Amino acid sequence: MTDLQAEVVVIGAGPAGLHAAFYAAWRGLQVRLLDARGEPGGQLSALYPDKRVYDVPGLPATPAAEVVAGLVRQLDGLPVTWHLHTLAHGLSRVDGGWRVQAQTPAGPGTFTAKAVILAPGMGALLPREARVPGEHPDVRTDLPEPATLRGRRVLVVGGVPQATRAALELSEAGALVTLTHRRAGFRGRPAELEALGAAQAGGRVQILAPATLNALSPGAAHLTVNGESQTVPADTVLVLNGYLPDLSPTLGWPLDWQGEYVPDGPGGTTALAGVFVAGDAAQSGGDFKLISVGLAQAAVAANHAAHHVRPELKVRPGHSSEKRLG
Ligand SMILES: Cc1cc2nc3c(=O)[nH]c(=O)nc-3n(C[C@H](O)[C@H](O)[C@H](O)COP(=O)(O)OP(=O)(O)OC[C@H]3O[C@@H](n4cnc5c(N)ncnc54)[C@H](O)[C@@H]3O)c2cc1C
Repeated sequence: MTDLQAEVVVIGAGPAGLHAAFYAAWRGLQVRLLDARGEPGGQLSALYPDKRVYDVPGLPATPAAEVVAGLVRQLDGLPVTWHLHTLAHGLSRVDGGWRVQAQTPAGPGTFTAKAVILAPGMGALLPREARVPGEHPDVRTDLPEPATLRGRRVLVVGGVPQATRAALELSEAGALVTLTHRRAGFRGRPAELEALGAAQAGGRVQILAPATLNALSPGAAHLTVNGESQTVPADTVLVLNGYLPDLSPTLGWPLDWQGEYVPDGPGGTTALAGVFVAGDAAQSGGDFKLISVGLAQAAVAANHAAHHVRPELKVRPGHSSEKRLG
């Protein structure tokens, strides 16, 4: 089992975790950023990438996906290592810091650091299970690298923005795509919905909706479309039904959890020295589960973490406008 070292491990790549990673790395610390999902952005990218957000300061009426893109871009050039598809489930004290146990794409692994910033939001956003009767050898709930499905007949099931995006990306990568949903409409950003319409008109994506997916069999899916039975050839079935939050992997950590909240002191400190909390999970935010609040908590927690890791660094960061990268 590999043990990866860092100065700070950030758990959760939602807005709070992304900004915490930014600030810790901006202060010069080596950061490892973990998320259970395959893409960053937390609730914004999992639950509402297509919706506009109106109350992030400085970004009026901005699609959630663009808010995330900006937070991710802000990490460019900074010492942040990404670990996606990585679910943190254990925390233990080690000499001089903390060890996080995690399930990684390569199997069980650990991350050791002097400080941990916990930004788990509502919990690990895990894909809803694909509950479809019948046997099929290749049913997935997460979009793989699209090029790996080139030339395959792929049935994408779902109306969420990820289903629209998957249909487009797979078709662009050379898969033969059928998109189906129990309702007539699909969610997505206006440009994506327009591209989907064009792909359908051009015969690059077949759309069957509203439709009921009744069963799977090897190489095929059996649907009811407009009251008629229809069998669609499918080498791969990709069921994208959204995400459900799961806090249980971290709820057992001795942080004096109060329901879904970790009590936090000034600076995002918790009951464990060197473990900080920010975002929706920080109790100090109370009912204000907002991006702007999480970003502020993240800035404060990351700067306290920086001082904890390297006491020679002041807690106060100074003004970024007076500093330059590199
Ligand atoms: C539909 C909807 C609309 C919203 N609209 C707005 C709005 O307009 N304005 C606004 O300010 N707020 C809005 N919010 C709230 C806002 O999205 C949240 O306040 C914000 O996402 C919280 O950020 P976070 O980083 O704390 O947590 P999250 O965004 O929840 O991110 C947490 C991340 O941590 C990961 N994670 C959790 N546990 C683990 C683990 N054990 N191991 C690895 N990874 C883990 C999760 O997979 C997730 O990616 C909205 C929320 C919803 C659901």
